Amino acid sequence: MTHFSQLAQFGLFDARAPRYTSYPTAPHFSTAVGERDFEGWVRAIKPGSQISLYMHVPFCRRLCWFCACRTQGISSDAPLRAYAKTLLAEIDLLRGILPKGVTLSHLHWGGGTPTLMPAAMIAEVGQAIFSLVPLAKSGAFSVEVDPNEIDAARLRALTDLGMNRASIGVQDFDPEVQAAIGRNQPFYLTRQVADMIRDAGISALNVDILFGLPHQTMARMAGSVMQLISLAPSRVALYGYAHVPWISRRQQMIPAAALPTPQERLRLFELASDLLAGAGYVAVGIDHFALPDDGMARAAKTGQLRRNFQGYTDDTAEVLIGLGASSISRFSGGYAQNASRTADYAAAIQNNRFSVHRGHIFWQDDYLRGAMIEQLMCEFRIDRARIIQRLGYTPAALDGLLQTSFDAFKSVLVLDAEGLKLPPVARPLTRLIAQSLDAYVGTKAQHSAAI
Ligand code: SF4
Repeated sequence: MTHFSQLAQFGLFDARAPRYTSYPTAPHFSTAVGERDFEGWVRAIKPGSQISLYMHVPFCRRLCWFCACRTQGISSDAPLRAYAKTLLAEIDLLRGILPKGVTLSHLHWGGGTPTLMPAAMIAEVGQAIFSLVPLAKSGAFSVEVDPNEIDAARLRALTDLGMNRASIGVQDFDPEVQAAIGRNQPFYLTRQVADMIRDAGISALNVDILFGLPHQTMARMAGSVMQLISLAPSRVALYGYAHVPWISRRQQMIPAAALPTPQERLRLFELASDLLAGAGYVAVGIDHFALPDDGMARAAKTGQLRRNFQGYTDDTAEVLIGLGASSISRFSGGYAQNASRTADYAAAIQNNRFSVHRGHIFWQDDYLRGAMIEQLMCEFRIDRARIIQRLGYTPAALDGLLQTSFDAFKSVLVLDAEGLKLPPVARPLTRLIAQSLDAYVGTKAQHSAAI
């Protein structure tokens, strides 16, 4: 049996599954969680501990058709100025309740396009954040940089604040593929911006590329990956394009007939993975690659890799606070999400209230299933001893859950006294195997293709 037919027998090429950047996943959040829960969780942060912070900027100059991010196209800076004012007010609200002596292990600015902010705004918002929570000595400050929306002044403002990692979205360098996804970003421009970032002293560069886009062929994928490798990024995210036009209306512009089949998607992924491995990148989790000396590759090697709303991370802070519209915060008690509509978010903050409108309070076996899914997504195995050590007790349900997953995927998994293991041939099934541990599955939400 070829490995394709082996994977097909588990429905890989027809299935849909979450990406498990949280457990439970965001569609299962409810309005039972509100600002009081959020405030209680923030007040309970241990004084002197390290936390992480994510800031969302939900605006772009143009909206790419493939993108399912919650973002809004703007042609002037007025909405940005109003939004920055709201962010500053949200930071002030946090100042009133955040315990003393807390420092930041990771700060990430994403969106949308955070580099749409003019230099002075970058400086003002950044200084406000660092006056609330200073970056720890070994802290990481990363920003999503759009090559179409950056210049020397904005880059200078970011480096002055201490940005030490930049992330560039590429998707694909082929002009026909770019035209079909509504994004014009020539290779020379990406190269220029990568050079500019390095010249500014930032050597840590992440680049995202997508497989499964319209008109992608093996030859085009190979060409784009080789161009990407020539940029020498320290980390690469190789995401599958999620065609979900019922969620993201912009994707209705994408010619569905030009999309690769699920089998072709897997071939494109395998080709890109092989090229990256050949160039010295270490595979990290289901869709990341890193140079061996990068923090993410080291975290994967030492069992420190974690999963959060940005995908994989080497950040081990237990608390993540989300700033801005639609941002999600994570605490040991649960998740809290800000209002998704920018107007609702701003209205709450202007009334001196946090804008949390939904979330999830961990209960029953959420911790157990969440820890098992995270370890599976990060390490392709579930190690009984480490799960027990992480939870601090021996959960009665642990072996039953291991057995359930094993029974569903018996011919490709190994179950022994240490736990469950996925050999390399089973790795494309990781999200489906994770789904077998998900108690909420099937109750809501349509997910993207499992491959
Ligand atoms: S890909 Fe980036 S620039 Fe394009 S719409 Fe999405 S967030 Fe905006």
